[in-house]
Parts: sequence; C-alpha cells; structure tokens
Amino acid sequence: MVPEGLIAHGRGECFDYLIGEETREFARKAIRAAAAALLLAKHPVISVNGNTAALVAEHVVRLAEEVLARIEVNLFYRTREREELIAGVLREAGAREVLGVGEDASATIPELFSERRRVSPRGILVADVVLVPLEDGDRTEALRRMGKTVIAVDLNPLSRTARAASITIVDNVVRAMPALVEEVRELKKRPKNELQAILASYDNNQVLAEALDFIRDRLAEIASSMRGSSTR
Ligand code: ATP
Ligand code: MG
Repeated sequence: MVPEGLIAHGRGECFDYLIGEETREFARKAIRAAAAALLLAKHPVISVNGNTAALVAEHVVRLAEEVLARIEVNLFYRTREREELIAGVLREAGAREVLGVGEDASATIPELFSERRRVSPRGILVADVVLVPLEDGDRTEALRRMGKTVIAVDLNPLSRTARAASITIVDNVVRAMPALVEEVRELKKRPKNELQAILASYDNNQVLAEALDFIRDRLAEIASSMRGSSTR
C-alpha cells in the first residue's frame, strides 16, 4: 500500500462520518442509475486501484460477471510490481482476465501526464461506460472529455471526481459495491426501455445537492440535540 492510499482512505472516512456511515437515499438513486448504465453498456470496464482491490476485490469480480465488464488495473503510482500484486488480488477473488498490466497498458489518455494516463487498448480506451471506484479528479475529467460515461464512488460530494463524473455514488465503496451488485441482479430482469428511462431521468447535480442538503440537515439536528441536553 502506498501512503497516498491511506491518506485518501482517511479523507473518505471523514465524509462517511458526516453521512452517518449508511447508504442514504441520494446514493440509492445513483446506484440505480449506475446499474442501468452498466447493463446498457456495450463495453463496460471496471477500473481498479490499490484501495479498491484491498477493500472490494470480490465484489468487483461479481459485478464484472453480472454485466460482462472487463476489469482493468489503473494506478496513479504505477510500477510493474504493484500492477502484478493488484492483479493477483483480483485473480484470487476469481477474476479470469485482468487488463492493464505491463505491456497491456500501451495506450494513453490524451492530456493526462501521470502514469494514470496509460490504459489498455482493449479496456478503458474503447470503453463506453467506466466504473471508477475511488478515482482522481484529473482522470475523471479526462475520461469525460473522451466522451465516456463515468460512474464514480466517492464519499466526498465536493471532490472534483464527484462533480465531473456522470453518475456519482456518494457512499463508502464497501457498502456501495455490494449494493450495486444487488441492484444489477434486480434490474437485469427489466426491459431495456425501463433501464433507458432510469438513466434519462437521472440528474447527477441534483443528487450531489441532495447529499449536501442531507449532511447540512443531519449536522443541524445533532447540534440542536446537543443544545437540548446542555446543562447550562
Ligand atoms: P479529487 O482529485 O477528485 O478532487 P482528492 O484529490 O481529494 O479528490 P483523491 O485522492 O484524488 O482525492 O481521491 C480519493 C477520493 O476517494 C476522496 O475524495 C475520498 O473522499 C474518497 N474515498 C476514500 N476512501 C473511500 C471509500 N472507502 N469509499 C468511498 N470513497 C472513498
Ligand atoms: Mg485528486
């Protein structure tokens, strides 16, 4: 694990505290839209970094099986060793194919300058829908400019990732991924036009605003109950 991964995790925990460590209605709406987008996609890809592999490798594999998505390793701090380690964790969790390791990451995302610009020509490069749990803002913006539908999982509704993504699930990835697998299993039974309607009526800015409203109201309630139990 690189220290940056631990720092990002701590930032996430702080926001999880603010939403009360539960999957809220704004996250449910985003999970529903994300499931519809993944089921309608022609080339869905799940992008996996170190934190995602450490926290939810098994659910990544299950989700990939349900929506026939490819799994691609994508690291900010790319070394062959870290790529292989993360691919190993995914294979252990049942993945049959892992893209983005070594020479496979031979294509580049325009305008990005970190090692995160390197992607697989069979994966993210040609994907129409990319699920990026715990993504960085620069990369989310670059993927959007390439015309892709980007689904992010990010506890911080104010991050650049949250604001740049097409669909932002404001929830802890350890709760969001199992919920997404469940939702996909449910929506699989529905006709295509129903999935299209779910997507068409989804408004990400509205959902992010609901997350901020929720945090504000929750903090106001907690503050007022503290005043109520105050002795002076
Ligand atoms: P951005 O680049 O999008 O502006 P950032 O630079 O603050 O955001 P990054 O390190 O690029 O953050 O990405 C990590 C993001 O992942 C943070 O916004 C953090 O809140 C979020 N995060 C960390 N752990 C979790 C988790 N377990 N579940 C969901 N989100 C998480
Ligand atoms: Mg960032």
